[in-house]
Amino acid sequence: MYDEVLSYIRSLFPNRDFIPLHEPRFLGREKEYVSHAIDSTFVSSVGEYVNHFEEMICTFTGAKHAVATVNGTAALHTALMVAGVRDDDEVITQPLTFVATANAISYCRAHPLFIDVDRDTMGLSPASLSNFLQSHTELSEGCCRNKNTGRRIAACVPMHSFGHPCRIEEISTICKTHNIPLIEDAAESLGSTSHGKHTGTFGRLGVFSLNGNKIITCGGGGVIVTDDLTLAEHAKHLTTTAKKSHPYLYEHDEVGYNYRMPNLNAALACAQIENLDSFICNKRELAQRYNKFFKTQPSIDFTQEPPGTRANYWLNTILLPDHKKRDLFLKQSNQAKVMTRPAWTLLNELPMYSKCQKGSLDNAKWLVERIVNIPSSVRL
Ligand SMILES: *Cc1c(COP(=O)(O)O)cnc(C)c1O
Repeated sequence: MYDEVLSYIRSLFPNRDFIPLHEPRFLGREKEYVSHAIDSTFVSSVGEYVNHFEEMICTFTGAKHAVATVNGTAALHTALMVAGVRDDDEVITQPLTFVATANAISYCRAHPLFIDVDRDTMGLSPASLSNFLQSHTELSEGCCRNKNTGRRIAACVPMHSFGHPCRIEEISTICKTHNIPLIEDAAESLGSTSHGKHTGTFGRLGVFSLNGNKIITCGGGGVIVTDDLTLAEHAKHLTTTAKKSHPYLYEHDEVGYNYRMPNLNAALACAQIENLDSFICNKRELAQRYNKFFKTQPSIDFTQEPPGTRANYWLNTILLPDHKKRDLFLKQSNQAKVMTRPAWTLLNELPMYSKCQKGSLDNAKWLVERIVNIPSSVRL
């Protein structure tokens, strides 16, 4: 039934038996930098590549400060901690996201609170957020409290799904009105902007991932961005075991974490970020081809970047008419060695998050039955 679609996808990635969803590309100075890091003996959490990578992230995103971490999840955990999320707080996020978003909230011993997404952006819906806050919260002593539970709402964490920016300006305005710190899970959206401003830079802190399946990778890695020097310094301190700076004494002044990106990984990251612009170009061209092709397929919708935004098209997304067709497409494509994947199971349906508070999640439920991610690697 989907033969035409599958042969079109095959034609985009010629001479391949198995077509993966997303594979890394090492086309630049990766080997040179990694071998330089080895020769320098600085392979662990101190070294010039880590600092250089942080500078490059600042230049690329326009953020004032960056703190590199071992992975995106650790970056999220740290961002939540420095934003002041504590034991028994509540943190708003979307149910349609990778599990790490909610896990990082749990690491702070806080409670995720799930609010619906928009169908077009697949990210947190400002309308649903505003409705929820208006009917279920009140401002008391400068902080936003949930009237049902009496708990503080300590942060809001929207996510830019598959690299498509959510309505982040509206979300930022709502968070300001209710005095809720905004932390963007921009793990998937390095290179995506909304009205010319980089995702991850709209709130107090933003977080990117450099895992093996992301748009650029350093094996495992993450980075926090912020314009607030105090938050940046605290993040750096927490991710380096909270060791006080001293030429030789070993003293720590709070419970810290061994979360700093090793220099060996940072060497890879520096080489990768040098190619990020060309990767984005390449991926946007692939998205254009998909878009044109799927216009000829009346029963499949190709997801385009929301108006006013520029997406990195990390993972291309199509919507099938219903979950039966979705399942059939998944089966046929994977059998034909064209790797495709449904969206994540909604987080509120996972055993550890099934008792969390939530708004009505109609759009998330509608999307999760229809979304399929299709092959999206940078084409050679
Ligand atoms: C990849 C990802 C993360 C976590 O990043 P890791 O580097 O794998 O720890 C967090 N949130 C989202 C939405 C992601 O896609």
